[in-house]
Amino acid sequence: MVILLRTLGLLMIVGGLLWMVVAELVLREGRGQQVRLLLVAGVVFLATSLALSLMGRVSARVGGRRCRRCSKPVQHGHLYCSDHLKEAVNEFRDHHRQKGDGG
Ligand SMILES: [Zn+2]
Repeated sequence: MVILLRTLGLLMIVGGLLWMVVAELVLREGRGQQVRLLLVAGVVFLATSLALSLMGRVSARVGGRRCRRCSKPVQHGHLYCSDHLKEAVNEFRDHHRQKGDGG
């Protein structure tokens, strides 16, 4: 997603510059509005891709907790993913049940 947006942004900026040159040299007329539109769209795409990649990095750092068993990302304060949380709870319960049987 980020790479796609970045590629689109670069393509639009390059396309805008090319269109500016082509319009000036070949068509002999300024296409300022079209060029500006392409450039603005390209910058918007690039900025969006930058913001997305930054948000991804920040969220990876903040919610950097991962499941102890499969290292999937988990919610803040959780040790296991939803699959392994159930497993861990069952094991914990079984462990205590076995202890309790002795007495
Ligand atoms: Zn897991």
